[in-house]
Amino acid sequence: MRVGVLGGGITGAVIAKRLAEQGHEVLLYEAGPEIGGLVASHTVGGTDLEIYYHHIFTHETSIIDLITELGVDKDLEWIDSSVSVLSADGVLRSFSTPKDILVFRPIPFFSRIRMGAAGVLAPYLFRWQQLDHTPAVTWARKLMGKKAAEEIWDPMLRAKWGELHTEVPAPWLWARMRQRSRSRGKGKEKLGYIRGGFRKLYLALQNDLEAKGVKLHFDQPVQRVLTDGIKVHGVQTSAGIEELDHVVSTIPIPRLTSLLDEKVPASYRERLAQTEYMWVICVILTLDRQLTPYYWVNVADRSIPFGAFIEHTNLIPPSDYDGNHVVYLGRYFPPARYGEEAERLAQGNLNEIVGEWIEHLSRFNPDFDPTWIKKVIPFRTQFAAPVVRAGQGNRILPFATPVDGLWVATMTQIYPDDRGQSEGIHLAERCVQAMEPRLLP
Ligand SMILES: Cc1cc2nc3c(=O)[nH]c(=O)nc-3n(C[C@H](O)[C@H](O)[C@H](O)COP(=O)(O)OP(=O)(O)OC[C@H]3O[C@@H](n4cnc5c(N)ncnc54)[C@H](O)[C@@H]3O)c2cc1C
Repeated sequence: MRVGVLGGGITGAVIAKRLAEQGHEVLLYEAGPEIGGLVASHTVGGTDLEIYYHHIFTHETSIIDLITELGVDKDLEWIDSSVSVLSADGVLRSFSTPKDILVFRPIPFFSRIRMGAAGVLAPYLFRWQQLDHTPAVTWARKLMGKKAAEEIWDPMLRAKWGELHTEVPAPWLWARMRQRSRSRGKGKEKLGYIRGGFRKLYLALQNDLEAKGVKLHFDQPVQRVLTDGIKVHGVQTSAGIEELDHVVSTIPIPRLTSLLDEKVPASYRERLAQTEYMWVICVILTLDRQLTPYYWVNVADRSIPFGAFIEHTNLIPPSDYDGNHVVYLGRYFPPARYGEEAERLAQGNLNEIVGEWIEHLSRFNPDFDPTWIKKVIPFRTQFAAPVVRAGQGNRILPFATPVDGLWVATMTQIYPDDRGQSEGIHLAERCVQAMEPRLLP
């Protein structure tokens, strides 16, 4: 069969790989210049570094297997993670080990015990489907008490969901707890990183696709998906029309919606139109010295205008980046229709927005001086993560669409899990399995 794959992020690339391995003729269309999608890179000190912070967890077997399959495992390192919390009292406290939790003073002693136990047991005591109409903020309070929710879980939800954090359903939090307890296992949490950047994995994947005969069309956004409303016929790009038996879309849902014409059943187009995504602004700062001793800081102080603080060179040494220390600051925010602040973040001058953030860095280290910063490299994207709401479990799209031969596989379909590369690979493999009966000659 002749199959077109839309999108060359991890999901599209793995779908293309598995279909080519089954002997199909595969054409992959990617709007950007190479395979990678959201795991795009920028060079810092001569080394590739993700524009959005990336690491993997020990339980993420789908990506570990792919890294091994493509021979990149020699560069995969597992490093002790170090997590802290910056509380409203301005103190940065370690939050990496059970002992750190036991001595974490902003939460009363018995709440700490309750929080630690609940974090480990909740994923086993509840089924996520029971929780799908309960807001995560409400569930966190019931489970762990008000103080623990306010100090730990609310900031984590705000960091990821901004103004929409009160609407996020409990299964998302449930899945995060399950993820953390699986990845911690019995010992200290280790995080995986490919020395020299995840781009090594994506270049290896690109070579593998080429070797398997996948036709890679880079810098070629698909402009239309051609259907008669009942069956898919192909795609249109700036290079012309390509006739295809099947089309698999892994591009963000709003992008796909804009490629479908009125022949596609209105009920399906309306269903797609309900899907929204969080934006993110993320800045790479290169500095001449260390800012904090931690890799990850949970920002519980609400007066700080960004939710993510990741000091990458506390995981990977600065020597990999020609001596530069690397810090990411990030803020997720909803689409512009959610108000003026969202609109300002989506449309405003990135350097001005990030300039405001930098003024807050002395909260992370009182000695901080702006002259420590060597470079400010900001990025913004519209499709960082699909928005999830109460009852999300009932809205998960199937891979098949009402148009025969048109398939959809995106991060909207992995709920209650959070989006990630490993989930993308697992999703790709499930999608190919769902397609198999329809791919027989
Ligand atoms: C700030 C941030 C931090 C993250 N941290 C981690 C982490 O630590 N660990 C982890 O595993 N994951 C992390 N992720 C998530 C991970 O990057 C994504 O889950 C994953 O890359 C999604 O892959 P995808 O293929 O589904 O989608 P994408 O990567 O979004 O790929 C979709 C592709 O479609 C292309 N496209 C769009 N329109 C068209 C068109 N018309 N025609 C052709 N192509 C088109 C785009 O250019 C893009 O390449 C993070 C993401 C962000 C934003």
